[in-house]
Amino acid sequence: YPHWYSPKPGIYSSLQSPRNLPTDPFLDVVSFIFSHPHDGVLALIDSSSGTSISYSNLLTLVKSLASGLHKMGVSQGDVVLLLLPNSIYYPIVLLSVMYLGAVVTPLNPFSSVGEIRKQVKECRVSFSFTIPENIKKLESLGIPVIAVPENEMDLKHDCFSCFYNLTYGKFYSIKKNLIYGDFDLPQRPVIKQEDTAGILYSSGTTGVSKGVVLTHRNLIAMVELFVRFEASQYDYSSSKTVHLAVLPMFHLYGLALFATGLLSLGSTIVVIRKYDIDEAIRAIDKYKVTHFHVVPMMLSALTAKAKDGNGSKLQSLRHVSCGAEPLSKGAIKDFVQAFPNVDFIQGYGMTESGAVGTRGFNTDKFHNYSSLGLLAPNIEAKVVDWKSGTFLPPGLSGELWLRGPSIMKGYLNNEEATMSTIDKDGWIHTGDIVYFDQDGYLYMSGRLKDIIKYKGFQIAPADLEALLISHPEIVDAAVTAGKVDVAGEIPVAFVVKKVGSVLSSQHVIDYVAKQVAPYKKVRKVVFTDKIPRSATGKILRKELRNCLTSKL
Ligand code: AMP
Repeated sequence: YPHWYSPKPGIYSSLQSPRNLPTDPFLDVVSFIFSHPHDGVLALIDSSSGTSISYSNLLTLVKSLASGLHKMGVSQGDVVLLLLPNSIYYPIVLLSVMYLGAVVTPLNPFSSVGEIRKQVKECRVSFSFTIPENIKKLESLGIPVIAVPENEMDLKHDCFSCFYNLTYGKFYSIKKNLIYGDFDLPQRPVIKQEDTAGILYSSGTTGVSKGVVLTHRNLIAMVELFVRFEASQYDYSSSKTVHLAVLPMFHLYGLALFATGLLSLGSTIVVIRKYDIDEAIRAIDKYKVTHFHVVPMMLSALTAKAKDGNGSKLQSLRHVSCGAEPLSKGAIKDFVQAFPNVDFIQGYGMTESGAVGTRGFNTDKFHNYSSLGLLAPNIEAKVVDWKSGTFLPPGLSGELWLRGPSIMKGYLNNEEATMSTIDKDGWIHTGDIVYFDQDGYLYMSGRLKDIIKYKGFQIAPADLEALLISHPEIVDAAVTAGKVDVAGEIPVAFVVKKVGSVLSSQHVIDYVAKQVAPYKKVRKVVFTDKIPRSATGKILRKELRNCLTSKL
């Protein structure tokens, strides 16, 4: 029978029973996470050193870091930048900021100074965490910085004592001041579900990257409708599952799983600081990892390793889920063949939808590996013909619209972009072209929007175009997605040079690379005489893409 029903014409709803979301308006996501009883023992393990944080310590650490931050002047509503790679301390830093009612804004630690400056300015960041290597990048911005060393910290010894505080000029013992049983927060502030908890960056359907404002309510819904709901679908206890954390926690997909959702379930999270497939395989065997969450590039790497004969080792693996960008049928087939005993699913979500969307579920009798899955509970969907505005039944492709409690509040200080993304009835227009089949399973057939997905990371073409045009010898430029096998998509720049310029492709690539995080760099340049634009000056991206198919 179908897994969706239509309460009103044109609206798809999940047939899954709705999940109860807390109705108390005064609730924050940290209290929500810690309100769930479970019998989990180890919360977080560092894959290379084995250092761990237990569930019995977790809340204490969050509270004492919060109290230390409070003493240093961080208070409710302040925005704190997290320029951090994955580590077992990431969730503690994140939750301690939210515990104070302050707002987290995460960013890829490889970001350039220009990218950091933009986010610091837009979000009015007043405090930041980073790793020692990055201190230099933050020096010119005039905000207090706490450095979190990646390696030698060991909770059994003097955890957090090696945090480095730039305002105080040197390594400074946080033991007394920042952490350790010293949670004399005078009083916790009153935090409302509707208060802002995080600002994450995404370009949405068009333009440059923008701050996606997510409230405590959004994150509570994300934890409940994505992570806790998914766990409820399996007949084993989630406190017995061991998850490998490779996806970055500065992206909402990793944040939802490893820094919030799974911690409410008592699962164990094994953190790899930097993705490497051999390290992932070693960690899966060593820590008996049961769940691995990946993007397509990692799935193919895992399959290749299994083909090399490593697959026989990965006996503990039960569940692999994949998302963030399109996965080819061939890659799915190869994976399922190499790992016949692993439950494979795909999921769909976006930053603006609070990571909630669809998740795949397989039963003993029914496997639907190539679909992105069934609609999450409490979420409604429409599939809309973007030309006529009519709603489409199963089997027909149109733009996906979503509505529900996890949908962002809006873009930071950008009413125009917010209004063109979330309509007056609360539907977010995703810019993705999809269809539902008769059983309610979602399939993605394309994208209306401009974003490029490189190894799971989102790149806004408009961000790169602005940089290209700032070059004195470039008159006009447009960036679009080129398709390659391994990485999925790459940013390809169409460039119009000044008359007489001898600019080379390599020069253009280097010019951009110096100013952006490495994953964002332009990987191919096509020199052209003219960028196709509409009468209003809008880049005609479809024409660019057509032009590329013949050139790549
Ligand atoms: P982000 O906000 O970075 O998570 O990017 C969200 C976008 O990634 C979506 O709007 C889709 O275009 C794309 N996306 C997410 N999940 C999938 C998936 N499973 N398959 C294909 N594309 C996806």
